[in-house]
Amino acid sequence: MDAGTVGPSDLDGDDSIPATKLPEGVGGHTNSGLEGSSALLELRAILENATVGILFSKNRRIVRANPLCAQMFGYAPDEMTGLTGRSLYPTDGIYESVGREAGPALAAGKPFRAELDMARKDGSTFRCRLSAKSVNPQRPQSGTIWIMEDVTDEFQTEMLVRNALAEHQMIFDNAAVGIMYVRDRVVVRCNRKLEGIFGYGPGEMLGLSARQLHPSQESYDDLGRRAREPIMRGEVFSTESGARRKDGSDFWVRITGHQAPNAGDSFDVIWIFEDVTKRREVEEALLRAKDELEQRVLERTNELTATNQQLQKEIFERVQAEQRIWHVAHHDALTGLPNRTLLHDRLDQALAQALRDNHRVGVMFLDLDRFKGINDSLGHAVGDELLKQVAARIGRAVRAVDTVSRLGGDEFIVILRELAGPDDAVLVAEKIIQSLAIPVDALGHDLRVTPSIGISIYPDDGFEALQLMKNADTAMYHAKSSGRNNFQFFAPRMNEEATRFFRLEHQLRHALEAGELLLHYQPQVRLTERAVCGVEALVRWQHPESGLMPPAEFIPVAEETGLIVPLGEWVLGEALRQNRLWQEAGYPQLPMSVNLSPRQFRQRGLVDMVRRTLADTGQPSRLLELEITESSLMHDVDEALDTLRELSGMGVRLSIDDFGIGYSSLNHLKRFPVHRLKIDRSFVDDLGADWDDAAIVSAIVSLARALNLETLAEGVETKAQVQLLLSYGCTRFQGNYFSTPLPAGAADKLFRKPTAPV
Ligand code: C2E
Ligand code: MG
Ligand code: MG
Repeated sequence: MDAGTVGPSDLDGDDSIPATKLPEGVGGHTNSGLEGSSALLELRAILENATVGILFSKNRRIVRANPLCAQMFGYAPDEMTGLTGRSLYPTDGIYESVGREAGPALAAGKPFRAELDMARKDGSTFRCRLSAKSVNPQRPQSGTIWIMEDVTDEFQTEMLVRNALAEHQMIFDNAAVGIMYVRDRVVVRCNRKLEGIFGYGPGEMLGLSARQLHPSQESYDDLGRRAREPIMRGEVFSTESGARRKDGSDFWVRITGHQAPNAGDSFDVIWIFEDVTKRREVEEALLRAKDELEQRVLERTNELTATNQQLQKEIFERVQAEQRIWHVAHHDALTGLPNRTLLHDRLDQALAQALRDNHRVGVMFLDLDRFKGINDSLGHAVGDELLKQVAARIGRAVRAVDTVSRLGGDEFIVILRELAGPDDAVLVAEKIIQSLAIPVDALGHDLRVTPSIGISIYPDDGFEALQLMKNADTAMYHAKSSGRNNFQFFAPRMNEEATRFFRLEHQLRHALEAGELLLHYQPQVRLTERAVCGVEALVRWQHPESGLMPPAEFIPVAEETGLIVPLGEWVLGEALRQNRLWQEAGYPQLPMSVNLSPRQFRQRGLVDMVRRTLADTGQPSRLLELEITESSLMHDVDEALDTLRELSGMGVRLSIDDFGIGYSSLNHLKRFPVHRLKIDRSFVDDLGADWDDAAIVSAIVSLARALNLETLAEGVETKAQVQLLLSYGCTRFQGNYFSTPLPAGAADKLFRKPTAPV
């Protein structure tokens, strides 16, 4: 081998051939001989135009190199001739190894091929692919032909690719996730991690069917069903699934697959596996813990609920028991009425409230007449039944605010709250007596029982409970001794009042039918016009024994007993009829004033009654003026307002009677559709003597003017009063100074023009 050029192992060993000497050439021709022939020319042309470097060496020296070869090694053309082979190699080592490798091949007549770094003239290296062939293997000294190619670019590209591949392989092999390349459901490639995850040795997984990685056929089919579509669409499919290791144990993986692009028509998928068994175990453990906790919370809650319910039940029972105990301790077992203890409580309360509200309280001591006889003759059972029924009847006879209690035996006490006066007590006592007048059916016995009632009144008969009860007891004995089945007040004065009240009530009921009631009329004058401007109807009672009775004596009885309603209706009708008679007799048309008491004003159907009476008497509503007291209006302002509006809407005139002594709120006054204020007589009385009254009258007149209301002074008796009133701006008057109330027959006097005081 011509190792003189390419390797030290060149066998020819003929270093004596001068480097300048031209090679003998192919076929043993001399240089000059070649040049001379056309073959030589052709050969030279081939050499010079060859696209590879061609070099001929002999005895380790370069005999000839074509221009491309010289260019490749950085020499001028022909400059290479005579160079040693060693000069083309970067190191002795490479030079010698090429010699070692090439020698045997060349000696055997075979071509030698290699790719290696070679050195240029300037010492730089390039990658060279070479192939060498001995001209005559039998005679190594005949030389070697070398064909060389600069493959540096190709080599570098290849290196890059190789490095990239190596890097990829590294990444692939060292990835923290298992990666598997599956073609048509068969593993064609996978990394070490995957093998580790599934417990296979290196390379063992190649060729496995993907099915073998699943715990069951169902699991495999299920995954295939879910994954195929999205993967075919080019999406990334990800799920968690069961998996099976080589040793048959199952575990959990998170797998992510997507289609791998491939040239053929196989179905290639890259799968990434993560072992999530640990995480799932933790999750499952957490879930289990949570479930357990919830279960325990639920159990505990149930326990607590049960305990709570039990507790509530016990509390409820305890409260009920306490209520029962309280009830037993405070009530009479037979009748269920409050007993003495509760009675004292209630009475104390009632007295405290009465003190605050300035009311009266009645204490009624009630004892059944001859009850002992019934008990003794008919037995206790009958007596008890009678007591129960009596208790119930008393309860129904009293008002809601009152308290009925049983002291024991046949003794009852009734507390009457919020009494305005003894009359209220009379009404209740009467009701009780009436309610017991009906026979009681006690276990088949038709029994009549009557009460004796004693009444004491706070504060008249005492301030304290015990005192009042004692006095009521005393009064009850009076009732017994005065014939039973009646009531007696502790104070004799009250008994007289009560008696009188009763008698009056009784008589008044008949007075209406007996025609004992009559009306007197008092003119109202207007001094600026010197004319009578109205007439007030005032009721009187021609009492068969007492003579002509003023309204103050019987109107309160009528009010309390409700008789005022028919009485009032009669007054209105009579007054309007009389006015009509006067009109027919040619007297001037004047408004008729009619008084309405509080109870009348609140009576349902009042407006209808007024409308009907006006129609019946043929009087226009403008000739009726209704007088209402302040207290009626202030009792229930909203209801009063409704009634007033209805009356006013009909055209009826409205005036506030006895104005100044009540508690009118200015605010309400403003809203009431009234026409006139009648200044109460008490202010007029003291005019001139009392400066306060003068101030009040003056203030009322200004107030009325501000509210656009008329004023009329009542009870005017003297010239001086008239003059003072005039000076305050009041021009309407009513009073004895002009005329006392007169019977209807005295019309001439009634309608007479007033004369002004001089
Ligand atoms: P009142 O509506 O304020 O009537 C005026 C009262 O003053 C009348 O008393 C009248 O006689 C009296 N009077 C008039 N001028 C003078 C005077 O110059 N000096 C004095 N001292 N008194 C004078 P009477 O008729 O006794 O009526 C008293 C009250 O009875 C009336 O006060 C009225 O509130 C009521 N009343 C009278 N008639 C009826 C009626 O038909 N129904 C209703 N519900 N109450 C009536
Ligand atoms: Mg009046
Ligand atoms: Mg009056």
